[in-house]
Amino acid sequence: MNSILNDREQRFNQILKISGYFRLPVLCGRTNFPGPEKNNGLTEKAFLALTETIQATFGAAAVYQNELGGADGQSIVMALVLDSLTAKKMAVKIEEDHLLGRMFDIDVYDEQGFPLGREALRKKPRKCLICGQEAKLCTRAQRHSVAEVRQAMAFLVKSYEESKKYYV
Ligand SMILES: [Zn+2]
Repeated sequence: MNSILNDREQRFNQILKISGYFRLPVLCGRTNFPGPEKNNGLTEKAFLALTETIQATFGAAAVYQNELGGADGQSIVMALVLDSLTAKKMAVKIEEDHLLGRMFDIDVYDEQGFPLGREALRKKPRKCLICGQEAKLCTRAQRHSVAEVRQAMAFLVKSYEESKKYYV
């Protein structure tokens, strides 16, 4: 777990560096997955879908883009010529509308490197993948087993792949 924490801290330092350098809002997209194995077949597929969506949505506004890896999982980082609140709105829309949205974590930091919360948009907290209650509370109370959450995510990824077949 130590390397996960280290990589998380490194990623945050990177984000601060990028926002300090460009003086622009910074977006950081990741997949969330329970347990220590953050790099696996499921997160790879979800990350690919995430980067596709982020590029389609934010690519035109990005002056910088990079992908970071590590024990904490992959992440895509962009510096954006966009108002940070607008960027956060667009990010939340992806989290809510995309079939894999509940596996996505898209953070937006303002020009000073402060993260924007969902509260800034008067948005409700994120819902749990399994029971639909507030996700944070389920995590804190460890209401669902890691295996149960993984299974739900595997099902999501499968549905996503099925849905894509009809659009090629
Ligand atoms: Zn739950």
